[in-house]
Amino acid sequence: MLATIDMSWLRAIYNFFYEIFFGCSHDHLTRPFTLHAHSYKVCLDCGSQFPYSLDKMRLLHPWEIAKQQPRVTELTPIPTHPQAQEDYSRTKAIA
Ligand SMILES: [Zn+2]
Repeated sequence: MLATIDMSWLRAIYNFFYEIFFGCSHDHLTRPFTLHAHSYKVCLDCGSQFPYSLDKMRLLHPWEIAKQQPRVTELTPIPTHPQAQEDYSRTKAIA
C-alpha cells in the first residue's frame, strides 16, 4: 500500500530544505546564450547567471572569471602643452 503513494511530495520537501540549507542546486540550466559579448547560462529555478566559455564549452570557474576581467589601465593625462594640442588638431585634420 505504501508503494502506491505518490512520492513527489517527499521530493518537494527535500528540495525545500535543500534550498534553505545549501541554496539553489542549479540543476536546471538553460543552454548557453550570448548577450553583449558575454556568454552565460541561466538557472531556471532561481535565475542565477553562470558565465560560460564558448571556447572551452563549459561553465567558467570563479577564478577564471576574475582572470577575464579587463585590466584597469593607467589613466594618461590629457596633454595641455600647446605643441601637443597643435599635433592633435593636425591629426584631426587628416582624419
Ligand atoms: Zn539555481
